[in-house]
Amino acid sequence: MQNPMNIKSKLPEIGTSIFAVMSKMANDYNAINLSQGFPDFNCSDQLIDLVNHFMKKGFNQYAPMPGTIELRKEISKEVFRDYGRSYDFEKEITITAGATQALYAAFTTIVNPGDEVIIFEPAYDSYIPAIKVNGGIPVSIKLNENDFSIPWNEVERSISEKTKCIVINSPHNPTGAILNEEDISQLQKIVKDKNIFLISDEVYEHIIFDGNKHQSFARYAELAKRSFIISSFGKTFHTTGWKIGYCCAPEAITSEFRKIHQFIVFAVNTPIQLAIAEFMKNENNIYSLNKFYQDKRDLFQKVIRDSKFVLKKCDGTYFQLLSYSSISNKNDLEFSEYLTKEIGVAVIPLSPFYKNGSENRLIRVCFAKNDEVLISASKKLCTL
Ligand code: PMP
Repeated sequence: MQNPMNIKSKLPEIGTSIFAVMSKMANDYNAINLSQGFPDFNCSDQLIDLVNHFMKKGFNQYAPMPGTIELRKEISKEVFRDYGRSYDFEKEITITAGATQALYAAFTTIVNPGDEVIIFEPAYDSYIPAIKVNGGIPVSIKLNENDFSIPWNEVERSISEKTKCIVINSPHNPTGAILNEEDISQLQKIVKDKNIFLISDEVYEHIIFDGNKHQSFARYAELAKRSFIISSFGKTFHTTGWKIGYCCAPEAITSEFRKIHQFIVFAVNTPIQLAIAEFMKNENNIYSLNKFYQDKRDLFQKVIRDSKFVLKKCDGTYFQLLSYSSISNKNDLEFSEYLTKEIGVAVIPLSPFYKNGSENRLIRVCFAKNDEVLISASKKLCTL
């Protein structure tokens, strides 16, 4: 596009995201859309009624800058119940406009020009732009090929005087991999006695399967004292469009974080915060999520097992990676285009999650879809 005012772009190499590209293609070709990373079913009626209730009651003006007290209190209770750490709702929890804004505010809080930030590829797409806008240098490390675990030796080798922060995402989008206790001890060893912050993207904390335990950084003092722990109600309550998330961090970190947060959004919308706080009082609204998504994963895996796709392990999130190396030699962008246009199923290729692309012939499907949709999509994929 022409740039008449000579804007010196801060993100010159960033184009249209692969999610927008694939969704448009799905629409144009009337394909079943397993590319979008969000549910095609509605959230709870009770939650909608609660939002309505608070709107009608007149809670339609600015919330306090860090979020409503009611919601921060509920989050504090939940984090303590789940992970055993007590975050002070007054000083250590901030409600944000989704996890994306929490991530952006966290990077902006700590990254100064020239600082290095370690991220792992494949990486969620908002990390690199947020680091770069702040003058930081993303240092990308590839996750191990087979199981997408973290190569800790390489992490250790990549630490320099300039390392400001390490970004971890577990359960991991797009691979579905999760951290285990061994990962945590490796990380603890690496950061101990160093001035390194951690940004822990835990938006899929409640979507974890087969009895596995979520390794929140809130469980571990050595990690928690230097961590921005970021989560989002979009994933937990099937409300990605509401953009409500939060950041838990020790007081000294939170007070700097809030200086940035207040000038990005000031505060997040009031009635939804109040509704979510009320809804969280029924613990089952959160803890039923693991089984709900595990059933969807199992259903999708059962049908797709008859195909030539090879399933990668999926321990969490609502994403399943499929290898198509026994089906086609096309690269993943071409193959995804072919699936959408010819087979009628839109998926996401994995290479855009890497700075320099990837040749591992993997695609990502989202199984946060109605069962009938998952079954018809799988049947189409089985024809290959
Ligand atoms: N982190 C990861 C790993 C995600 O997958 C997402 C959502 N796709 C986000 C952050 C952003 O969450 P939100 O929609 O709450 O901004």
